[in-house]
Amino acid sequence: MKVLVINAGSSSLKYQLYDMREETVMASGRVERIGMDSSILTHEVPGRQEVRDVSEILDHVTAVKRVVDILVDPQHGVLSAINEIQAVGHRVVHGGESFKQSVIVTPEVKLEIRRLFDLAPLHNPAHMMGISAVEANLPNVEQVVVFDTAFHQTMPPTAYLYPIPMVLYRRHKIRRYGFHGTSHHYVSDQAAQLLGKPLSEVKMVSCHIGNGASVTAIKEGQSVDTSMGLTPLEGLMMGTRSGDIDPAIVPFTMNKEELTLSEVNSMLNKHSGLLAISGISSDMREIVQGMDEGDKNAQLAFDMYVYRLRKYIGAYAAAMNGLDVLIFTAGVGENSDRLRASVCEGLTFLGIELDEELNKKRSKEARYISTENSRIKVLVVPTNEELLIARDTYALVQQAKQA
Ligand code: AMP
Repeated sequence: MKVLVINAGSSSLKYQLYDMREETVMASGRVERIGMDSSILTHEVPGRQEVRDVSEILDHVTAVKRVVDILVDPQHGVLSAINEIQAVGHRVVHGGESFKQSVIVTPEVKLEIRRLFDLAPLHNPAHMMGISAVEANLPNVEQVVVFDTAFHQTMPPTAYLYPIPMVLYRRHKIRRYGFHGTSHHYVSDQAAQLLGKPLSEVKMVSCHIGNGASVTAIKEGQSVDTSMGLTPLEGLMMGTRSGDIDPAIVPFTMNKEELTLSEVNSMLNKHSGLLAISGISSDMREIVQGMDEGDKNAQLAFDMYVYRLRKYIGAYAAAMNGLDVLIFTAGVGENSDRLRASVCEGLTFLGIELDEELNKKRSKEARYISTENSRIKVLVVPTNEELLIARDTYALVQQAKQA
C-alpha cells in the first residue's frame, strides 16, 4: 500500500509518500508560500536531483493538486497513476480530549476538529484545509488523522489539571494536553526495541529537543506527564519560547511596559528563550559557536537551557519513582553532543554515566551513548513522526477494509 503523509500549515504543506511494504520513502517535499506570490514546490526522490518549481499556488487545493501531479509526472514522479495512493495520513496538532488515538476521517471527526479550533487557532484550521484539499483532489481515498496530543491522553488528572478554578476546566477545557506526542511515542517504541525489553518493564524520560522542546515521562509505554501544557509554550526553555515562568509576569509586564495581550503573547512565544538571553540566535548551533568565541550571554543561555531541562528530567524520575532510560531526540537532541553531555553531567546522582566517545559519534541510527555500567541507559533515537503517521494510517485503513 502507498500512503501519503501530509503536514499542512497555514502557508505551507509538507508531504512524504511511503511504500508500506518496506516502509520506504518514495518521495518527499514541501510547498511553501501558499497564497503569496511565487509559491515554491520542492520535490525530492531518493537518488535523484531535487526539483524546485516556482509558480502561483493560491490555496491548499491547488497545493495538493501540484503534489499529486508531480508524484505521477513521467519525468519527476514515482507513481504511474493517482489511484496508487491508497490512503492519506495527516498530522493534526490538537485532538483535545476527544481523540485518544488516530482515527479515520469522517464527517463527525471533521466537526470535532473544527470544535477544537479555539485550542489551536494557528494549527487546526490549516490541517482542516489540508484534509479538504485532499478530499477535493483524491475523493475516493481514505484519510486518517494523527494527533500530537493523543499520546498524552493517558496522563492522570493529577498531572493534567491546573490548580485554578475547576469551572475553567469544565467550561473551556483548560488543562494540560502536551504536544510532540507522535515523536515521544515513536522514540519510546524504538528505544524499547533497541533495549530488547517490553515497554511495560521500563520507565523512560524522552527529551524532544528541537526548535520547540518537550520532555515526557513514559511508564509502561504510556505518557504519565509531559512538559507542554494547554499550549506548546509551557515547560522547557526553547529557541524563542520562554517555557515556564511566573504567570504574574504577564499582567506585571503589560502594566509596566504598556503592552497589549497580543504583544505579551508574541514576546513569550517569539522573542524569549535562547534568542532573548543570548541576544544572538534561537539556533543551538549559533549559541554553541558564540560560547566557543567567549560570548558570555550565549554561555548563560546555554546554561539556563541545560539547567531547566535537567530539572525536568529529575522531576519526572521522581514522578515515576524511578528511571531506566533517558532518550534524546529532535534537532538539538540528536545532533548536539555538547547539550547531551552537559545535561547528563549533572545527573550522575541518578546513576547516569555517559560514554564520551559514543556521545560524540554521529549516526542516523538509534544508539546507546551511556557506558555499559550506567544504571540508567541513555539513548539517542532519531525521531520520525511521518513514519508513525504512515504506520497508523496503514493500520487503520487495513482494519477498515477487513471489517
Ligand atoms: P527541529 O525542530 O527538531 O527540526 O530542530 C531544529 C533545531 O535543531 C535547529 O534550530 C537547531 O537549533 C538544532 N540543531 C540542528 N543541528 C544541530 C547541531 N549540529 N548542533 C546543535 N543544534 C542543532
